Amino acid sequence: VPENRDRIVVVGAGHAAGQLVASLRGEGFAGDITLIGEEPVHPYQRPPLSKQYLAGELSGDRLLFRPADFYRKNAVQIRLGCRAIGIDRDARTVTLEGGERIGYSGLALATGARVRPLPVEGHDLAGVFYLRTIDDVNRIRARLETARAVVIIGGGFIGLEVAAVMAKLGKRVTVLEMQDRLMPRVVSPTVSEFYREAHARHGVRVVTGAQVSALAGTNGEVRAVACAGGEECAADLVVIGIGVIPNTVLAQSAGLACDNGIVVDEFASTSDPRVVAAGDCTNHPSAWAGRRLRLESVQNALDQSKIAAATLCDKRRPYREVPWFWSDQYDLKLQMVGLSQGFDREIVRGAIGEGRFSVFYFRGERLLAVDSISRPADHMVSRRLLGAGVAVTPEQAGDPDFELKSLL
Ligand code: ADP
Repeated sequence: VPENRDRIVVVGAGHAAGQLVASLRGEGFAGDITLIGEEPVHPYQRPPLSKQYLAGELSGDRLLFRPADFYRKNAVQIRLGCRAIGIDRDARTVTLEGGERIGYSGLALATGARVRPLPVEGHDLAGVFYLRTIDDVNRIRARLETARAVVIIGGGFIGLEVAAVMAKLGKRVTVLEMQDRLMPRVVSPTVSEFYREAHARHGVRVVTGAQVSALAGTNGEVRAVACAGGEECAADLVVIGIGVIPNTVLAQSAGLACDNGIVVDEFASTSDPRVVAAGDCTNHPSAWAGRRLRLESVQNALDQSKIAAATLCDKRRPYREVPWFWSDQYDLKLQMVGLSQGFDREIVRGAIGEGRFSVFYFRGERLLAVDSISRPADHMVSRRLLGAGVAVTPEQAGDPDFELKSLL
């Protein structure tokens, strides 16, 4: 029977896992820590993958969450290229592919999310890619050397960031978005429209209401994307960015409660008190939003991991952070804080025409969220205002001479 006293096993090697091991040592945990990662690389930051790394402006080691010797210095056993395939919660062991079992006193699941597949004919042609891992981007970059016509399926953050990089590299770029506007899941129509125009200015063709029906190829290489209605769009490189699915299979097979993510409480505990979960894979109660959320963000991965590590060290602190996100496209910096769903009034601060503005979303008198475009000071003050629950009126938000900082 594997030894399972005083050892925390972390499954996953993304942002959440990297932060978890750092926070466990930060909280004073002195037992063993084993981190199990499926990818053959140390935990790294994913956001630059669709931005500077794709553009060739950042080297692979600059992506690392912590330098590789951080794990040695902190006595973290790191098992890379290694898949956890089972959890026995009674015996308190994790089974690895190959059969090895590792005992634990505490277990952290930071299994993240995987790309949502596009189940159409031709999805497996050469030249068709998803974008989630460093390996995905390395393969896209290799293809870029010869590709000229790029079609991107999905007009969310990933798709649009890739479109911006490809346009800057001089490719002919088309974005096919299923909904009637860009980034429909996260931003308002005002912001969607602004980005549609920005992409058009950079020569990117955006098609909304697109229904991809098949990918066509010649000799196993992608040649075009076919849409319902008969339109065909020539392509020698296709990137699919149509969202992600939380990785819950391991948790589910261990009998942990899952429902659009691994269900955790505000302390990041799963339905088993010895098991915590953090990051993209969780469905968690947000004290701030007053409802359950599943977030795909660095902010959530980092903040929830700190809570999860504290819980494993018997220091219970509830998760209360305000969600925030960002996206870089061209020289436009989009920063979002809060959740705008359900707003009934929007107030623009700054000038949309100059490409530097913020949109404040209200429901009744309550400020729900702020999207800032190249106005980082608005974003930072909004984070503090929303975090502290300070009331802001629509008049204050819209008055460029009113100092929002003075409300803090
Ligand atoms: P990601 O993080 O991959 O960018 P998002 O959810 O932000 O994920 O964006 C995904 C986008 O892809 C959404 O705007 C969604 O409407 C769009 N989408 C989903 N399925 C399809 C599809 N089959 N064809 C084109 N667009 C799609």
